[in-house]
Amino acid sequence: METLRISEIYKMLHSEKTINLTPAFQRNAVWGAKDERELIDSIFRKYPVPEIMVHPRTPDSGMTTILDVVDGKQRINAVVSFIQHIHTNSTKPFKIKIDEEICDLHDLSEEDEKKILAAPNLGFEELPPKLKEFFLGSKFRVFELEGEDFNLTSLFKIFERINKTGKKLTPTEIRNAMFSGFPFMKIAKQLSEKKKLGLFLETNGVISLGQKQRMGDIGLILELLVLIKDGIQDKKKTLDAVIKGERSDKFVKKAAKDLISIINRISKIFPSLKETRFNKHSDFYSLVSALKDLEVQGYSLADDSRYKDAEWMLRELGSKVDELRDDARIGKPLPGKNKSLEGYFLATQHSTDTKDFRLKRMNYIKEIIGPIFGKNDRVRIFSEEQRRILWHSAAEKKCIKCNKNLSWEDLTIDHKQAWSRQGETKLHNAQIMCRSCNSSKGKRRA
Ligand SMILES: [Zn+2]
Repeated sequence: METLRISEIYKMLHSEKTINLTPAFQRNAVWGAKDERELIDSIFRKYPVPEIMVHPRTPDSGMTTILDVVDGKQRINAVVSFIQHIHTNSTKPFKIKIDEEICDLHDLSEEDEKKILAAPNLGFEELPPKLKEFFLGSKFRVFELEGEDFNLTSLFKIFERINKTGKKLTPTEIRNAMFSGFPFMKIAKQLSEKKKLGLFLETNGVISLGQKQRMGDIGLILELLVLIKDGIQDKKKTLDAVIKGERSDKFVKKAAKDLISIINRISKIFPSLKETRFNKHSDFYSLVSALKDLEVQGYSLADDSRYKDAEWMLRELGSKVDELRDDARIGKPLPGKNKSLEGYFLATQHSTDTKDFRLKRMNYIKEIIGPIFGKNDRVRIFSEEQRRILWHSAAEKKCIKCNKNLSWEDLTIDHKQAWSRQGETKLHNAQIMCRSCNSSKGKRRA
């Protein structure tokens, strides 16, 4: 679709509900009555009107494509309000002044013209049929932001464009417009400024300085956040997930926390990530996805010495893939010896950002490092029953550490041998402690 008639826009908005004027990234700015009249006036004077930008999206539930309006909300509101006789943001009736120039431009009959010039302020229904028809048939040019063209960089360009054609926005406002609309975007920006994430990606060469300047760091972080919360996605679809914007602050904050914890684990496994191929975008993404998946399935590294093993195994995988790549450059066919390794290699050669290839790489990494991860099904929390037994059987109801008298409310149960050091969650390994001693113990250990 290259153009949309005003009559079509009206129908799509009101009966078909296939135009969405309030996607997450829309600004809340509303035109005043004067701005609205000016646009209608321009249409009757056949002045060029800026195009409307939409992002077509097909909801999971239906077949109908919804057009999210990226730019043009105020223009659409204005034409629809004019038809409905009332301004968007006021209770005033929506009338415009038709002058001689407009009459001439539309070749109105003398009779019509005379009538109009005597009472020139008219609402839509009061227009002569010729002008009504002209208005409903007027077209807006439509610019569709689709598929791969619609990425973070293009989004920036879009806002630049809005800056040029519509109300002026300063560069800071453009940034703010982008980051205030999308909850995921906001948190990605914050994370990109964090030492633990932004700096980590930069110093390990996952993100180059050039990429950073084009906001590639924020783009990658967005992808990782979506990966953490929604699982592996096609890169193309990531931004869709982001702009849907139906995410609470709490939800994205949890995603950010989970991501940081995985990045911490990666930095433990790979003190020198930049020497390996796992600092490449696609491999890095796969590593994050594999670690996340193992965690979701309840696997973890039993102790710190296992980090070394994981590093060694991943380095091995990396070098083997590099060797295959080297051979492929000089035209050597794949040896056909190790199917999953070669599968991993093939999944790094092209279309590396598709869901299918991303899944393949994740599964292979899991195959490699999975065996050193142990199923983490040990119970950590003492049950209510254990808590009662300990309380009633305690000779003295005093904190084991500070010796203060305990109340039931202040009671916590502590592992004698720490749970993280394989201590069991059983009565023989339990001692009673006050809340503040227990929580300071936790901090000290971390
Ligand atoms: Zn205490």
